Amino acid sequence: MNKITNHLPTAELQAIDAAHHMHPFTADGELKQKGARVITSAKGIWLKDSEGEQVLDAMAGLWCVNIGYGRDELADVAARQMRELPYYNTFFQTTHVPAIALAQKLAELAPGDLNHVFYANGGSDANDTNIRMVRTYWAEKGQPEREVIISRWNAYHGSTIGGTSLGGMKGMHGQGSLPIPGIEFIDQPNWYAEGGDTDPEAFGLERAQQLEAKIKEIGPEKVAAFIGEPVQGAGGVIVAPDGYWAEIQRICRKYDILLIVDEVITGFGRTGNWFGSQTLDIKPDIMTVAKGLSSGYVPIGASIVSDKVADVLAATEFNHGYTYSGHPVACAVALENLRILQEEGIVDRVREDTAPYLAEKWHSLADHPFVGETKIVGMMASLALTPDKSKRAPFAADTGTVGYITRERCFANNLIMRHVGDRMIISPPLVITRAEIDTLIERARKSLDEAY
Ligand code: PLP
Repeated sequence: MNKITNHLPTAELQAIDAAHHMHPFTADGELKQKGARVITSAKGIWLKDSEGEQVLDAMAGLWCVNIGYGRDELADVAARQMRELPYYNTFFQTTHVPAIALAQKLAELAPGDLNHVFYANGGSDANDTNIRMVRTYWAEKGQPEREVIISRWNAYHGSTIGGTSLGGMKGMHGQGSLPIPGIEFIDQPNWYAEGGDTDPEAFGLERAQQLEAKIKEIGPEKVAAFIGEPVQGAGGVIVAPDGYWAEIQRICRKYDILLIVDEVITGFGRTGNWFGSQTLDIKPDIMTVAKGLSSGYVPIGASIVSDKVADVLAATEFNHGYTYSGHPVACAVALENLRILQEEGIVDRVREDTAPYLAEKWHSLADHPFVGETKIVGMMASLALTPDKSKRAPFAADTGTVGYITRERCFANNLIMRHVGDRMIISPPLVITRAEIDTLIERARKSLDEAY
């Protein structure tokens, strides 16, 4: 058997991949026909594939490589930590320096009284933690019947049983008989697709008020929490109309319902502040983080928990945790990632310079005949594509136009963008420069033109 290295011919790597590797969120039978693109290395915002092509990664991997690829400092820290203490748990009356230092740093960066960190391996299992945490919180407060968590259709909260259940992706619920009991949904605040002729703010308010109606329907005494992404990411970069989050928070406060904000995408500078909650003026009781926490260099996630919730949990044994909760290598790498984000002023530069520049360029795509809406918050953006701008009508599902643009045209033009339904989305590394933004926009426009 050949040793598998970057030097094998692409076709050979693809054949072995097709024979043995099951790809997430992929129809493997279809992928087998054309072969997966083999990525061999990366630097900054640029991927290199096995054919030597340089590909502009406008998705930062999966919305995660915030500091860009190829930062040696993270590799050095990981190697150092592996030599010093490659693993130890924090379960049974022990702790270690990387877990302590990262928890302190997260408490410093997170807004309000989010001062406590429960570690996970990624966003999905951090949300699993949240399900158990809010239910345990209410049980400890003498209200064990408060079990229901309200979420939103088209939300993405991960791929574990709990994460999928909290998410509002019907296609995911259909595989595996989900959601689990005790999860309810309200509609998403997607004015473009569902708002018709209503004023966007009135529509946003109406969608937020569905929360109150849902709480009354279930009975406030049975509701534990509401969960939402500040900006729905994997659902298509859906930005709620102004006023939406204020109304959601008013309702949560009125019924004493915990607010879980899933910042797995919006955390660590993506929206131009450290957290999307700061950009959108949200005050969560629990925040889910992952992805940008380590810029994707190692798997790590966490629930950042308020004094209010942590104080109650501290009174009991919370029978929950993962072998790799607070993994020392992951914590050390995340800490170094946060140091780079902070000391290099990357979040400030996004807010003050590159995000406004990207916004100007992004909105310039609105003149394309296929583009019905351009949306952007910080460094996450979407285009809604339509064959008829006046009606904001989506493309017929069978034409596959949007998939064709992102999968075929962008791919051929060495630009990684994604599509969700009729929306094309980007979430580039936060270190993208103005010149690279120009290249991104040129390639996106070219891809759109080739499909028109
Ligand atoms: N929550 C949100 C908002 C996400 O976007 C994601 C992943 O895209 C997750 C949770 C799941 O995170 P992970 O894939 O690290 O489990």
